[in-house]
Amino acid sequence: MKRLLKNESGASAIIVALVMTLILTASALALDIGAAYVEASNTQNAADAIALSVGRYLPVDENDSLKINIVLNAASEYAQKNEVENFYPENVIFGDVKDGKFTSVTISVSKTSETRLAKIIGVDNIEILKSATVSARPVGSITGAVPLGITEEAYNNVISTGEDHVIIKVGGGDGDTGFYGFVVLDDSNGNAALLEKWLKYGYEGENYVGQSLPVATGNKTSAARDAVEYRLSLCNHYVGYGGCIIDHYVEDCPRVMYILIYSFTDSRTVQIVGFAPFLLEGSPSDDEIQGSFIYTNISYTDRISEKDFGIYTYRLTK
Ligand SMILES: [Zn+2]
Repeated sequence: MKRLLKNESGASAIIVALVMTLILTASALALDIGAAYVEASNTQNAADAIALSVGRYLPVDENDSLKINIVLNAASEYAQKNEVENFYPENVIFGDVKDGKFTSVTISVSKTSETRLAKIIGVDNIEILKSATVSARPVGSITGAVPLGITEEAYNNVISTGEDHVIIKVGGGDGDTGFYGFVVLDDSNGNAALLEKWLKYGYEGENYVGQSLPVATGNKTSAARDAVEYRLSLCNHYVGYGGCIIDHYVEDCPRVMYILIYSFTDSRTVQIVGFAPFLLEGSPSDDEIQGSFIYTNISYTDRISEKDFGIYTYRLTK
């Protein structure tokens, strides 16, 4: 009996040791896995932050090595800010090519979470790999629009022919190149002073895709002339080289206006289908507004849209 008891206490000591080991191992893993989860979440946040930091450069022309380098440098800078080590150009993947332009960037970030207690069971590190994709999206709403626009069909014609120096407003009685005239951006009567103000500074309210707006009547020649002169004069870029022109321009120059792309619902009403950036150029005629369509990116708008007329914002898409 005595021997048996002794044997049993020996057995229970082994069981206790086994159970203790199991509990310790489980706790060790639980603690380290918990730490790895936190680290994984931080890594995802870093990937998101880096991706968002380069969203404003999209889309990027496939052949624009200068802009590609700007994106790579910006990503690298944000990686440092987010304490990501081992961040290389290979961690930045350009994708979703549309019309020769990359419209997305995927950022991958890897981190090694060093274990503490799990080392006792031979697990020294947990590898974490996270990625985030930012994509250019056409804007669905905008503030700062000018009270001018063209139909979607006219815009598509211009883009498909690659035409620059387009005239988007012509004098009364010369509207056979498609409608070109003023649109009232709010629920006022859209008098000439208001139209001129919006043309100079942009409308302070928000316009959005699907919004119906009345067409302003009359030629408003002096409003057009004064506002065009004013905007052209504000450019202080490329001094001595004609300022911002289609060959060289700064995207946030006052010469870049956001015009409406719309369809007519009746002869006096248009419905907005999108917004396009238009680089204003001098025109020989007072009641014409001439310029070229460009592409630009604005940091923030409430809404996005499917139809692409050259003004983009960006969103995390993965
Ligand atoms: Zn300029």
